[in-house]
Amino acid sequence: VNSQKHMRIVMLGLDAAGKTTILYKLKLGELVTTIPTIGFNVEQVSYRNLAFTIWDVGGQHKIRPLWKYYFQNTQALIYVVDSSDVTRMDEARDELHSILDDPEMADVKILVYANKQDLRSAISPTELTHKLNLHGLKGRDWYVQASNATTAEGLLEGLEWLERELR
Ligand code: GDP
Repeated sequence: VNSQKHMRIVMLGLDAAGKTTILYKLKLGELVTTIPTIGFNVEQVSYRNLAFTIWDVGGQHKIRPLWKYYFQNTQALIYVVDSSDVTRMDEARDELHSILDDPEMADVKILVYANKQDLRSAISPTELTHKLNLHGLKGRDWYVQASNATTAEGLLEGLEWLERELR
């Protein structure tokens, strides 16, 4: 993303949103570590000057206090949503907003992948923006990118937005 600075990016989303697929499509390299904590699997991968940290959010109220350790010095949040899973949109929205409530995340750039756009039941990026209440985020830089992680469509466009924002 940026050839000079070291960047820390967290990629989060509900389970099955498409995070792992995105990582592999971006060919960032092997997932180097899986750190199993109590009910909390964190994956980390480094690529050039980028350090990605990935985990599933959703229904983990007890371990949520651990999140902040992984949020430290993070420049960007990539939030992945299964656009076809309408039944879990409220949960996806609530988790996103509680992530962003963390003081460590006050200044992060927010890239949302409206993933699984290939599925017939997928809602549009505009509708997803509304469902996630992104307009309710005041003073934040966010961007919603339509994606299909299985074909890699949209993935680089999303990262290019981040690159411009982090420059
Ligand atoms: P994670 O739990 O967020 O890491 O989600 P995965 O990357 O494991 O993806 C969950 C499932 O959704 C897998 O079967 C993927 O192949 C599938 N998947 C991921 N992205 C897409 C997409 O854009 N379109 C479709 N149709 N399936 C996808």
